[in-house]
Amino acid sequence: MTRVFSGIKPTGHLTLGNYLGAMRQWAAVDQHRADALFCIVDLHALTVDHDPARVRRLSRQGASLLLAAGLDPRLCTVFVQSHVDEHARLSYLLECVATDGEMRRMIQYKEKAVRERERGGSVRLSLLTYPVLMAADILAYGADEVPVGDDQAQHVELARDLAVRFNQRYGHTFVVPRATLPQVAARVMNLQEPTSKMGKSDDSGPGIVYLLDEPDVVRKKVMRAVTDSGREVVYDRQSRPGLANLLEILAACTGGDPSELSGAYDSYGALKKDTAEAVIEVLRPLQARHAELCADPGYLEGVLREGAERARAMARPTVDAAYRAIGLLPAL
Ligand code: ATP
Ligand code: MG
Repeated sequence: MTRVFSGIKPTGHLTLGNYLGAMRQWAAVDQHRADALFCIVDLHALTVDHDPARVRRLSRQGASLLLAAGLDPRLCTVFVQSHVDEHARLSYLLECVATDGEMRRMIQYKEKAVRERERGGSVRLSLLTYPVLMAADILAYGADEVPVGDDQAQHVELARDLAVRFNQRYGHTFVVPRATLPQVAARVMNLQEPTSKMGKSDDSGPGIVYLLDEPDVVRKKVMRAVTDSGREVVYDRQSRPGLANLLEILAACTGGDPSELSGAYDSYGALKKDTAEAVIEVLRPLQARHAELCADPGYLEGVLREGAERARAMARPTVDAAYRAIGLLPAL
């Protein structure tokens, strides 16, 4: 059976981008057709300036939102990265296979390093090595597929390269994974800056739709979205990024096609109104389920405890094999 792994960082409140680009496929498709693991990758949240209590809170909330979005612990494994030591163990071995040049070429490292410096902070070493830990997350489970948004494709590519290199040098140990991207909304853009990705750790509040935003807040944010000059509603990512983003969000929420949908509108106002309502409808059941889960914290704890046990049992044999293959003496 195909093995699938993916994760989400507790660096901020989850966004519509996280949902449309990743979580929705996990719930609707991946957990049904594959042996799937979904993880709150909390170690990754420590790569930038963080508040410990906030990371803990966001980890719990993120896990609850994964369940609220439809992940079913009877069908897939939901767990927290730091509960399974194998991630950190394997990451070190992969650091001995990756090069510093490879790390410095990662687009996300460059972008986030600039942002940390602009905020007056220094760049943590773990931000540079983050893609290696992510490769360990994937390779520890022998994942064949990694369903992610477009922004993570480069990191999955690195995981592939490291798997191939390790296997060539030390003997076949890892499955070589590949990224799978959604057809629509693989990169939801910020509503206020439609040339930048909507990211949960970005500062620009009004450009980001959070999964727990009330309907009125969603309406306001979508109605105020920056659109392009010109009047006609056409789908063109290059010249009309603001409009294209709205059309993609609408298409992803209603199951339509962005360019076909563009023909159905003769004003930006009407498009925004329908997009806002479509987003609100998608978020409604998720928010209701999240509220139920908040009322029963013991349930979530149980899911995470069991998830970590299952994940440990899956990762340990592969990581132990990697320890032996690379030349470490087995512990007695
Ligand atoms: P951060 O700003 O901290 O990097 P993020 O919003 O990018 O947060 P991640 O935890 O890095 O979220 O990514 C979780 C998943 O959501 C990944 O599969 C990623 O590709 C996907 N994703 C994130 N943002 C978007 C987006 N704007 N559009 C589509 N997919 C996205
Ligand atoms: Mg990200």
